[in-house]
Amino acid sequence: MEMKYDRILIRYGEMTTKGKNRNVFVRRLKQNIARKLQAFPRIQIEYMRDRMYILLNGEPHEPIIDKLKTVFGIHSFSLAMKCENDLAAIKETALAAIRQLPYKGKTFKVSARRVNKQFPYRSDELNHEIGAHILRQTDDLTVNVREPDIDVRVEVRQDGTYVTCRDIFGAGGLPVGTSGKAMLMLSGGIDSPVAGYLAMKRGLEIEAVHFFSPPFTSERAKQKVIDLVRKLTTYGGKMKLHIVPFTEVQQAIYQGVPNEYSLISTRRAMLTITDALRRRQRALAIVTGESLGQVASQTLESMHVINEVTNTPILRPLISMDKMEIIEMAKHIDTHDISILPYEDCCTIFTPRAPKTKPKKEKVLHYERELDLAPLLEKAINETETMVMDEETGRTDEFAGLF
Ligand code: ATP
Ligand code: MG
Repeated sequence: MEMKYDRILIRYGEMTTKGKNRNVFVRRLKQNIARKLQAFPRIQIEYMRDRMYILLNGEPHEPIIDKLKTVFGIHSFSLAMKCENDLAAIKETALAAIRQLPYKGKTFKVSARRVNKQFPYRSDELNHEIGAHILRQTDDLTVNVREPDIDVRVEVRQDGTYVTCRDIFGAGGLPVGTSGKAMLMLSGGIDSPVAGYLAMKRGLEIEAVHFFSPPFTSERAKQKVIDLVRKLTTYGGKMKLHIVPFTEVQQAIYQGVPNEYSLISTRRAMLTITDALRRRQRALAIVTGESLGQVASQTLESMHVINEVTNTPILRPLISMDKMEIIEMAKHIDTHDISILPYEDCCTIFTPRAPKTKPKKEKVLHYERELDLAPLLEKAINETETMVMDEETGRTDEFAGLF
């Protein structure tokens, strides 16, 4: 029987610097990978301090590789073969690893590492032995140690020898869940889904919050947000979406606050509600899609007045990005085409023609005092409904109330 790639070697990258917390990181990564690969029941995951192996046990490697590319916390991974610490077996395995590669090369080199110092051959002896064997057994390959098409890496460890030929880049970042939890303010626009993606990349678990103002915003606008969260589950696994009924608050602001200040007040109300939901869901931060200077509410003056309602950390992963960069990233994570669907969002309808770019805090406070928004905010919080979406099972569960 011909030898086949039987496992995938996973390298962690950044989290290896996390000292004694490493176990937490590794265990979480393992859980996230196991969840991602639910559809492949025969795989087994072996994990150690510095690397992980997915034993394929006959499961196909291509679809598994595609799924691994979306798991944060993986620096790179490679198809691998394992054999005994025996020179003849190692030579055969290295040859098989080259033959089983999905592409052809003209040149190769062998890079052997002897981690197990009991093994009787030194690294340079191994390079020579294995290289000679490959040259004898193939007719179109030559050695090129400086820029080979194929780098055959052979690692002799205590428990056996591993052979890999090609590295595939992982998504990088930290495993989702290892940095704690934050609420993502998710509109139907281009920016906030990208902000959510970047927050998850830094290891945050995300719960999305969306403000919905029927009948001014349609069911289709809501569906758009549901579809965006579903896309984000590619990275986040199981995710919650809280839908806040915002019509009454918005109407009260629209009627009671002068037009040029209504946008600022609306944003303050959104942030106040999100912060209350955050407290109930035991999250520690709020993520938004704001980018400095992009629109009227995103000047430093506006942010200052909006932010005044809470001292919870507000994370703005896009703060310094250009719109073009954000669009590129939205395309990369496949949220762009959903975001550009034309359905109105709750702010576009109430957006004043000339919102203040340099709002005065005293004025905002004054207008809001007259309004007595608190009971309306309270009601919106109490009437918030939660959906839970699961990437791997495809299930959506809806809860009448916060969950
Ligand atoms: P986006 O592309 O994310 O809609 P934007 O460029 O349209 O952002 P704004 O409309 O000023 O900018 O919104 C700034 C941020 O406020 C959004 O990125 C999002 O985090 C939050 N936000 C805006 N509208 C809503 C909404 N209806 N529900 C939840 N969050 C919202
Ligand atoms: Mg928007």
